[in-house]
Amino acid sequence: MTALVYLEQTDGAVDEPSLQAATMASSLGGGAEVHAIVAADTAALAPAGQLPVDAVQVAVHEAFGSYAPLAVAEAVVELAGRLGATCVVGPGTERGNEVLAHVAALLDLPLAANCVAVAVADADARVTRVRWGGSLLEEARVDAPTLLLTVQPHAVAAEPGAGDPPSVETFTPTLSEAALALRVVERVAAATGGVSLADARVVVSGGRGAGSEEGFAPIEELAELLEAAVGCSRAVTMAGWRPHTDQVGQTGTKIAPEIYIACGISGATQHMAGCKGAKRILAINADREAPILQSADYAVIGDLHEVVPAISAAIRAARSG
Ligand SMILES: Cc1cc2nc3c(=O)[nH]c(=O)nc-3n(C[C@H](O)[C@H](O)[C@H](O)COP(=O)(O)OP(=O)(O)OC[C@H]3O[C@@H](n4cnc5c(N)ncnc54)[C@H](O)[C@@H]3O)c2cc1C
Repeated sequence: MTALVYLEQTDGAVDEPSLQAATMASSLGGGAEVHAIVAADTAALAPAGQLPVDAVQVAVHEAFGSYAPLAVAEAVVELAGRLGATCVVGPGTERGNEVLAHVAALLDLPLAANCVAVAVADADARVTRVRWGGSLLEEARVDAPTLLLTVQPHAVAAEPGAGDPPSVETFTPTLSEAALALRVVERVAAATGGVSLADARVVVSGGRGAGSEEGFAPIEELAELLEAAVGCSRAVTMAGWRPHTDQVGQTGTKIAPEIYIACGISGATQHMAGCKGAKRILAINADREAPILQSADYAVIGDLHEVVPAISAAIRAARSG
C-alpha cells in the first residue's frame, strides 16, 4: 500500500495539522509506504526537519506563490497516479479540506473529511469522523479504490519520523488553465476594531434578535466598554448586517472567551459549536424557552434593546462612582 499525504507549510516549516496528518498516514499499517507532497513556487522551499514519511516530493510551480487550491489538487492527483497511491491524506484544515475536495472531484471519488481514526485492512477502509461541528462522531466504511481523507486537527499527536530523514525530490506538475485561474490574488486584513474574535477574553454577540444592522449599536457600545470583540450569528451575516469575519459557529470562528454575552441568539447547534469553549455564557433573550438557556450560566429574559443599554449604563455608573 502506498499513501500520499498533502502537507501545508509556511516558509518551509510544515504546519502542525499537516504533521498530524502525516503521522496518521504513517500509522495506516500493512507497512504502508508514505510519500508527502508540498506545493511551492521554488524548490528551495522543501520542508525542513524530520517527517514521519519515506519521501517528500516538492511540486514546484510559480502558481504556488499564492494559495491555488485546484492547481494544488491537480499536482496531488498527478503524483498520486504516478505513485499508484491507494490512499491520499490531508490535514482537516479549511485549506486541506478544500484541496482534498478538489482531488475527490477530479478523481470522482468520495472524501471522508475530518477523520479521527482510520483502519485499513486489505480493501476494507473504516473511518471515524467528526460531524456537525464536533457534536457527533460518525463511523463509516469507505467503498472506493483510492481512500481520500482528511485528519481532524489534534485527533492524533504529531510524531517525528523514527528512521532516516526522507528523500526529497522536485517535480513540475502539469496544470490546466482553469486551475491557474483559481488563486488568491490579494489579502485584506479583517477590520477587528483592535480585538480579535478568536483571542478575545470577552465577546459580545448579536443574533437575529438585534433586528437590523443599526440594532447592533448597543452591542457595540457594550463591547467597547468591556474591551470586547463583537460577534454574531449566521442569521446576521446572512442578512448582511455584519461581515462573515464576525460570525461565531461551526462555519464561523471558534471562540474561547472568559465570558460570552449572547444577545438575541437562539442557540442553534451550529452556533453553539463555535462558543462551547467559552468559560461562561450570559444569554440575553426575550424567550425564556430559547435553547441557549440550556447552555447559559446566566440569563436575562427581556428585550436586548432595553437590557443591553441598561448594562452599559450600570457599568458607567459603577465606574464613575
Ligand atoms: C451547515 C450549517 C452551518 C451553520 N453554521 C452556523 C454558524 O457557524 N453560526 C451560526 O450562528 N449559525 C450557523 N448556522 C445557522 C443556525 O442553524 C441558525 O439558523 C442560526 O444560528 C440562528 O441565528 P440566530 O440565533 O441569530 O437567529 P434565530 O434562531 O432566529 O434566533 C433569534 C433569537 O433572538 C431572540 N430575540 C428576538 N428578538 C429579541 C429581542 N428584541 N431581544 C432579545 N432577544 C430577542 C429570539 O427569542 C430568538 O431566540 C448554520 C446552519 C447550517 C445548516
